[in-house]
Amino acid sequence: MREPALVPRLRPFTSTVFAEMTALAVRHDAVNLGQGFPDTDGPAGMLETAKNSLFGGDNQYPPGPGRPELRAAISRHRQRYGASYDPDTEILVTAGATEAIAASLIALTEAGDEVLVVEPYYDSYAAAVAMAGAQRRVIGLVETENGQLELDLDALRDAITPKTRAMLLNSPHNPTGTVFSRAQLEEVARLCVEHDLIAVTDEVYEHLVFDGAEHLPLASFPGMRERTVAISSAGKTFNCTGWKIGWICSTPELVAAVKAAKQFITFVSGGPLQPAVAYALDNELEWVENLRASLQEKRDRLSAGLADAGFAVRPSAGTYFVTADVRPLGFADAAELAWTLPERAGVAAVPVKVFTDHPDEWKHLLRFAFCKRNEVIDEAVERLRKLV
Ligand code: PMP
Ligand code: GLN
Repeated sequence: MREPALVPRLRPFTSTVFAEMTALAVRHDAVNLGQGFPDTDGPAGMLETAKNSLFGGDNQYPPGPGRPELRAAISRHRQRYGASYDPDTEILVTAGATEAIAASLIALTEAGDEVLVVEPYYDSYAAAVAMAGAQRRVIGLVETENGQLELDLDALRDAITPKTRAMLLNSPHNPTGTVFSRAQLEEVARLCVEHDLIAVTDEVYEHLVFDGAEHLPLASFPGMRERTVAISSAGKTFNCTGWKIGWICSTPELVAAVKAAKQFITFVSGGPLQPAVAYALDNELEWVENLRASLQEKRDRLSAGLADAGFAVRPSAGTYFVTADVRPLGFADAAELAWTLPERAGVAAVPVKVFTDHPDEWKHLLRFAFCKRNEVIDEAVERLRKLV
């Protein structure tokens, strides 16, 4: 066999930091604040609905675009942003947001195209752009005077070339917890329209915004509805990250394009879970509001604990995550610390630099997940206090 077997464009992507860090956490019996997954279950009514589907004979292939009741529920849910999507032609159910992102890029971009990606970026973005055969162009986040991060709009303008085909935008943003402002999104939208770009928006944390902030879908800005593939997923909204039920909302043309790729990646998935997600979207948003409020408290709890342990904690306005600067503790490189932290301190976290093309600029930050029970957060903080 030819060696190495893996094609060059996928060679940088042989492992994921989440799988590696979780394995390390298990090996050292560490508190896992690395991989972002909750340690409590979603709403009981949703689980009950799934059980009924599983035992009610609902175990064969769902329709290619997704179960009609789920597409209808997604359409109703999206109306919270004042947007109307036809469940039959403008919504596609996917195997999580991950497949939605990959299928969108594979369907809409190819060799010779450039895709704008905001750095630090969720790990699957670079791999998905590579699978599509396109090139990523990264635009960094910059720090404002009050310590918040925002898009470098000048860099964004400079990065756009005649080859630019699409922009991938994630707000609320993993790993930093940034929620982009209306003014910034307005300018992003204006640039997408001016340069005829497709926007692929990753909105998996749409409900997890804090301190009274509001999730603003890029598709709701002028000229964007017809050029945006809006992606979300049930995992983060209903504490069911293992279900991998995601979706896209877009125009009939863009949905048909993404479906062309999606149907030969998985065709369909999660059939018996789809009615449960439909139920949850229609009936459990109050549960989600409580989740949001509890996550805001957990953010505060973990941020205070990390500050107490000596980290310089950065603001987080949404998601599951808070980032912290390790330099005040005497460490220069958060990645070196992260790979030894499970053994040294019994805690796992993820270095932010693995999500970037410019590791030096981001090497001081660790990402901690706070989507955990309070006693788990407290135990992690207790352990980290003894780090130095
Ligand atoms: N995008 C972001 C920003 C994420 O944090 C995650 C991880 N949950 C995903 C996409 C993947 O979502 P899913 O599990 O629905 O594939
Ligand atoms: N989205 C989760 C995180 O950012 C992990 C997902 C995964 O393990 N692929 O931590």
